[in-house]
Amino acid sequence: MAATLSSLKAFADALPQHDRPMPVLFIGHGSPMNGIELTPFAQQWIALGKEIPRPEAVVCISAHWLTNGTWVTAMKQPRTIHDFYGFPEELYQVQYPAPGNEALARDICSLITKTQVGLNHDWGLDHGTWTVVRRMYPDADIPVLQVSIDFDRPPSFHYELGRQLNELRRRRVLVIGSGNMVHNLRLLSWQKHPDESFGYDWALEANELFKKLIASRNHKQLISYEQLGAAVRKAVPTPDHFYPLLYVLGMQEDKEEVRFFNDQSVMGSVTMTSVLISYS
Ligand code: ZN
Repeated sequence: MAATLSSLKAFADALPQHDRPMPVLFIGHGSPMNGIELTPFAQQWIALGKEIPRPEAVVCISAHWLTNGTWVTAMKQPRTIHDFYGFPEELYQVQYPAPGNEALARDICSLITKTQVGLNHDWGLDHGTWTVVRRMYPDADIPVLQVSIDFDRPPSFHYELGRQLNELRRRRVLVIGSGNMVHNLRLLSWQKHPDESFGYDWALEANELFKKLIASRNHKQLISYEQLGAAVRKAVPTPDHFYPLLYVLGMQEDKEEVRFFNDQSVMGSVTMTSVLISYS
């Protein structure tokens, strides 16, 4: 296994720029309103769509598809899922008609050997996926698939699955983990703050710690996030929005660099901090 990985790295180092593997993204998706409002976060997603080499397909691991077992969407035409309540009608009208790709779904089933992956025909694109991907590729002409999060499995499982998905990057597939590093909806601040990027002390502390561990490639501690103390316990009360980050980190290769963007808190208890992993 080690030999294979190191030969892959040597291969990547020798590649000209345009043949390098696709970057990997962790996106803090925040409120579904980012799907229709041109917030600074959405503007970054638009810019990224132009900056990153155009992919053959997008595979998204969204915080909003939690399942028993691991599944990959395999329908020809995934539906746009409006999985939120109490938002303006305009948001429910949005359709993102990107096609699926059943052959790629089958490839993903064979790439992942750590568990058996099933083909799914009834999910689609939830808001963790479409609010972001529609900004990056507004023409909806690139196939988009989702891989579900098996919520019965431990953090290390999700990290390992990310490692197994790494191969997709050399097939020009853009893999996106969509969640939020700090995400505690019960503690949202509804007060008007003079500073829109207000964050509670514990939220900022956890955000800084996550960034430090990501930048120093301390994935072990991130996998064991439950042992990182009180601030992180508040920041990650449930792991749904954190697990997509572990998939993305599992895909990082030795010489790849990380770049943070949208590093901002919203409503006190959520951070939008996002990560781009790529060769420099
Ligand atoms: Zn969410």
